[in-house]
Amino acid sequence: MSQFWKPGTERPRPRIIDDEEGGVLFHPTPTSSYGYSNLERQRQRLPVFKYRTAILYLVEHHSTVIIVGETGSGKTTQIPQYLKEAGWAEGGRLVACTQPRRLAVQSVASRVAEEMGVKVGEEVGYTIRFEDKTVQGVTKIKFLTDGVLLREMMDDPLLTKYRKKNDGHATEESGLKTEPSILSVEGKGYPVEIYYVQKPVSDYLQSAVDTVLLIHEKEPVGDVLVFLTGQDDIDAAVQMLVEVARDKASQFSGLLVLPLYSGLSGSDQDLIFTQTPRGKRKVVISTNIAETSLTLEGVVYVVDSGFSKQRFYNPISDIENLVVAPISKASAKQRAGRAGRVRPGKCFRLYTEDYFVKEMPAEGIPEMQRSNLVSSVIQLKALGIDNILGFNWLASPPPESMIRALEVLYSLEILDEDAKLTTPCGFQVAEMPLDPMVSKMIIAADTLGCSEEILTIAAILSVQSIWVSVRGKHKGIDEVKLRFAAAEGDHVTHLNVYKGFLQSGKNSQWCYKNYINYHAMKKVVDTREQLSRLVRRLGIVLKSCEGDTQAIRKAILAGFFSHASQLEEYSQNGMYKTVRSSQEVYIHPSSVLFRVNPKWVVYHSLVSTDKHYMHNVIAIDPSWLIEAAPHFYQLKRPNPALF
Ligand code: ADP
Ligand code: MG
Repeated sequence: MSQFWKPGTERPRPRIIDDEEGGVLFHPTPTSSYGYSNLERQRQRLPVFKYRTAILYLVEHHSTVIIVGETGSGKTTQIPQYLKEAGWAEGGRLVACTQPRRLAVQSVASRVAEEMGVKVGEEVGYTIRFEDKTVQGVTKIKFLTDGVLLREMMDDPLLTKYRKKNDGHATEESGLKTEPSILSVEGKGYPVEIYYVQKPVSDYLQSAVDTVLLIHEKEPVGDVLVFLTGQDDIDAAVQMLVEVARDKASQFSGLLVLPLYSGLSGSDQDLIFTQTPRGKRKVVISTNIAETSLTLEGVVYVVDSGFSKQRFYNPISDIENLVVAPISKASAKQRAGRAGRVRPGKCFRLYTEDYFVKEMPAEGIPEMQRSNLVSSVIQLKALGIDNILGFNWLASPPPESMIRALEVLYSLEILDEDAKLTTPCGFQVAEMPLDPMVSKMIIAADTLGCSEEILTIAAILSVQSIWVSVRGKHKGIDEVKLRFAAAEGDHVTHLNVYKGFLQSGKNSQWCYKNYINYHAMKKVVDTREQLSRLVRRLGIVLKSCEGDTQAIRKAILAGFFSHASQLEEYSQNGMYKTVRSSQEVYIHPSSVLFRVNPKWVVYHSLVSTDKHYMHNVIAIDPSWLIEAAPHFYQLKRPNPALF
C-alpha cells in the first residue's frame, strides 16, 4: 500500500497522452454543461453528428466507406440510425452493424432501441449465437457478432438483404466509386493525466481495491472504471469493495460497485449504464470489454491493472488456454482514454513508468495468430475460398496452426483429400455455429438414433457450467452431484440433471437445492431449442435412444475420438496419456469420474493450471475408437500441395 503514490500528496509528474504516441486524440473542448436530460440532445452532442451529411453523401457515392473515430464518438450507435433515417432500410432491407462480442451487441442494441423509443426485437434487433431478436419485415437495424455475419454470408455471399437498389455494386449506371473513401471523425476527448506506481506491485487485485478507496477519499466526484482480467478477479474485487462500502457509517458507503464481464444478466448490464445517483460514486470493475466496444459515460478515473485475459493456442499440444497476460501500450492508452469522456480525467496505472516505457510491448499479438483455426478454415472453405494458404490474411496465422486445423478437419471427414468440404457432412458442419467436433457428434447421433440426447449435451457444453460455484462448499456440491452421477461419465450425468430440471417444471428452487445454476439451465433450454430448429433444417430427425448410453458415447466419440486418453498402467495418481501426443493429463476434480479413473476416457476439453486437466470426461471401450475413426489412427495426410 505504501508503495503506491497517494493522490493529493506528493504527485509524480502528470502526463498527457498525445496523439503521436498512440493515435488516440485528446482535444480539450471547452464545453461546460453535460446534461443527461434529453436523449436527442445527447445524440446531437456526439462527434459523428457534425459529419452526418458528409457520411450520408459518401455512402451514397462509394461502395466502401471507412469511418475512423475515437471510441465513444457515436460510430456504432449513430451511423446505423442515420442510414435508416436516410432510407437505407426501406423495402425489406436492413442496416447491419457488427460488434466483436455478444455483450457489446446486446448493449448497443438496447441503447439504440432506447434512443429510437422502440423495444429491442422490433425495429431495432440483434442476433448472436443461439439468440435471434429480430423480426423479418419489422427489424430495420440489426446488431450482430462478426461470427453470425460470416455464417449469414454462407447462405447469401453477397449479403443481399443488407444492400440497396443498386446492390452496392460499382457499375457505370450506379455511379458508385470503387475506391474506398476514408473519413476521420474528430474526437471529443479531454486530457487525461497518467500516474504510475513508484514500485512494482505484487498483488494487482489488492492494489486495484486500494486505489479505488484512495480515489474515493481524495478525488472529487466522478465514476471509476477498473480494468482487471476476468470473472474471478472481478468478483473478488467487487466483494472486497462491497464489504468496505457496507458499513453505512464509513466514508466508503457512497460506493456503488458493479462488475462487467460477458455472461452478466441483462438487468446487471443495465445497472452499469444507468446514471449514478446523487451522492454516489459508481465503480465499474471490468474485463477489456470496456476498452473499445462499450462506452461508460461519467467515468473520470481509470485504474489499469496492466493485465488482460488472452487466448493462446498451442498447435503442437492442441491446447487452447485463456491466460492472464500483460497488455500492450496500445491497450494501455486506450484504457486511459476512457477517463476523458466527460471532463479531464485521471488514469492510475498499477505498473511503473519504467516498465511502461521499456518493457511493455507496443502492440498485442493479433488474435488470428493465437487461436485454434479450425472454425475459420471451415468458414473460408464454405465461402468458396479454397486456397487458404494463399489467402490474403490481415495477419497470417502460424503454419503449424494451419496444418493442425487441416489435419483435424480431414480426420473428422469434414474436408476430403483435396481439402474440399465433404458432402453432406462438411456442408452440414459449416452450417452449424458450433465447434466442428460438436457438430460432427450431432451428425453421428442422427445415424446412431440418439439426436435428442446429443442435442441436450451440445447445449450444456455451450454454457460455462451448470453447477453453481460456491466458494468453500465443494463438499456439499460433490454430495449433490452424486444424486445425478452416471458411471459412464459427465455427459450422461448432465443428461440426468437436464431431465431432473424438466421434471421439476424448470423450477428455480429445485436448482437452488441441487447447487445447479438456474440461469445456465434456462440458457441450456433456449440453446437446445435453437439447435433443434437448426438441425431439423439440415434434415436431421430428432430421436431418443431411450437410455442407450452406448449409442450416446459412440456419438460423442465420432466427434471427439482425437481426445482419447489412456490411464498409465502403474500410475498411482491417476495420470493419463493422450493418444494423440502422449501428453500427461489428469481428470479434473469437478468430474464425476475423478478418482474413478477408468482405463480409457474421452474428454471434451483440456484446461491447464498446475497440470493439464481433462474437463467433461466419459469412459469408453477402446475398440470403439478404431470403429469411430479408423482413418485417424493411420492418419493419411491430405495433400499439402492442394491448400
Ligand atoms: P463508438 O462506436 O464510436 O465507440 P458508440 O456509438 O458506441 O461509440 O457510443 C456513443 C455514445 O453513446 C457513448 O459515448 C455513450 O455516451 C452513449 N452510449 C452508448 N451505449 C450506451 C448505453 N448502453 N447506455 C448509455 N449510453 C450509451
Ligand atoms: Mg463502437
